[in-house]
Amino acid sequence: MSGKKIALWDAESRRVYKRLLGYSARYWPVAIVAIISMAVDGGALAVFTNKLRPIIDQLFAQKDPYLIFWMPIWIILIFLVRGIATFFSSYGIAYIGRNVVQSMQRDVFAAYLRLPAAFFGSEHSGHQISRITYTSEQIAGASTDALKVTVTEGVTVLGMFYVMLSNSAYLTLALLVMIPAIILIAAVVSRRYRVISRRIQNMMGSVTGTVEETVEAHREVRIYGGQQHAASRFKQVTDRARYLNLKIAATNATSSSAIQTVASFALAGLIFLGSRPSVINSISPGVFVAVLTAMGAMLPSLKRLANVQSTMQSGISAAESLFELIDTPPEVDHGTQELERSKGDLRFENVRLVYPRGDFEALGGVNLHCAPGTVTALVGRSGSGKSSLVSLLPRFNEPTSGRILLDGADYTSYTLPSLRKQIAWVGQSVVLFDGTVAENIAYGELAGVSEQEIIAAAEAANAMEFIQRLPKGIHSHIGEGGNMLSGGQRQRIAIARAILKNAPILVLDEATSALDTESERLIQQALQHLMRDRTTLVIAHRLSTIEHADQIAVMDHGLIIERGTHAELMAQNGHYATLHRMQFNERPVVAVAN
Ligand code: ADP
Ligand code: MG
Repeated sequence: MSGKKIALWDAESRRVYKRLLGYSARYWPVAIVAIISMAVDGGALAVFTNKLRPIIDQLFAQKDPYLIFWMPIWIILIFLVRGIATFFSSYGIAYIGRNVVQSMQRDVFAAYLRLPAAFFGSEHSGHQISRITYTSEQIAGASTDALKVTVTEGVTVLGMFYVMLSNSAYLTLALLVMIPAIILIAAVVSRRYRVISRRIQNMMGSVTGTVEETVEAHREVRIYGGQQHAASRFKQVTDRARYLNLKIAATNATSSSAIQTVASFALAGLIFLGSRPSVINSISPGVFVAVLTAMGAMLPSLKRLANVQSTMQSGISAAESLFELIDTPPEVDHGTQELERSKGDLRFENVRLVYPRGDFEALGGVNLHCAPGTVTALVGRSGSGKSSLVSLLPRFNEPTSGRILLDGADYTSYTLPSLRKQIAWVGQSVVLFDGTVAENIAYGELAGVSEQEIIAAAEAANAMEFIQRLPKGIHSHIGEGGNMLSGGQRQRIAIARAILKNAPILVLDEATSALDTESERLIQQALQHLMRDRTTLVIAHRLSTIEHADQIAVMDHGLIIERGTHAELMAQNGHYATLHRMQFNERPVVAVAN
């Protein structure tokens, strides 16, 4: 076997491990104390073993009074030192480990905050959660526990080797049988761990994902009787996780017994060497016992050293996948211009959008101008590309070709944060955060505005009506995801948030879809007021709400197929007029849109 093949780690593992150690570098004073303690811990055992020869040869055989007095004291002292060292090495290493895990978790979380929107559609959120809860925990093992075992047991092995060598170099030759075999075992085992660890991590992502999905969809599961399906899916993923974990255990067990077997050859070799007629009389019982004990004491350390590879490798593959995520390029932001307050002049020029997933062309060349302070309504069948078009504005998606101009300049020339400051957004599904009503309305950069402003925004959004009835008004806690509010109430909070932001561009993507006609009419008034001096893009299902828009763009299959005011489009008697008639049931439908 070539030297390369039996190398314990490949270059990639070494690179990852180095980077991981970089995370602990900040704690170097603690690390030094811990490493010294580990060395003392391992060394003390060797020192004790080394005392065996005088105990046997001088204390018992010659009844040396000096040793009879001092030996018990030395033993207590040796173990006292060892006890202190164990504390500092264990606590020190845990201290570094927990800090490293936290730094990793923070880096991963920071990555979630800056990764492009497309990333979140590309994998199950279970994987995103388990990176924080499971994968980063694996790192504690590699960066610390494994290091502790390596240093402590490594020093023990070296110490015992020294004990053997200093007692009898001749008898130490017996070890030669063992060394190559142990290196081989460790190499085979470590490669195997690496492959399995990666798979376990992915499995944990799937386990988390399955749980998350089922908990989130608890209503659907009950109504559609999905319990059995959910349970069998959960069993399937946990079966796989258990199988992989047992594979690790089997590898550990195999390597332990293999090492033990190899060691029996070394012990047999020791007896064989010690009992040669030429040497049997020159070796004292003390020497023999000391060498034998030292070799025996090496054994558990060697086993632990071989098995520590599992912790090490799972940590390394964990770190590898986390570093991969941390290194993922953030949202593209080549903008240099800081946009103070946009005039709201918005122009789409031949904008195409092809979603990478499935190579689907959602927009096929859209041209649209939204003049400052005007309202543009987008209408069209579901799936016609309305949401896709507005999702380009905050650059959740980038146009595949074509340009978007804001105030006459390509909108990518503005920095991303300053571009997003120009946009208030109310979407189809409203996400509320765990916190009070006030915290939800004055969210993010809006935090810190006065209570009057929050109430004014809530009033404009027609939300005060139900907020007043909550036990603590705007300071009432609305649980995670705003579960205790109805869809319409949630939308009104989102509208209040948008009103409070007071941005020059307002996007309403079916923002009033969950409202009844009465509240919609009230909010429409508020929005009318809000829309006055800003550029608004409104997607609405109910055409009655957009009749007063400055222009109406009818979309179909990713294209704008009609554009004009309500009156113009009605006169044109095309798609819009047909849609309108369908909704108002004025006349039997003559021509179906498209
Ligand atoms: P609308 O808002 O008009 O109902 P959308 O803009 O949401 O339509 O969707 C337009 C088309 O793009 C649909 O056919 C939809 O399946 C597709 N689509 C939307 N989002 C994505 C995505 N993230 N990846 C791939 N296809 C998408
Ligand atoms: Mg939509």
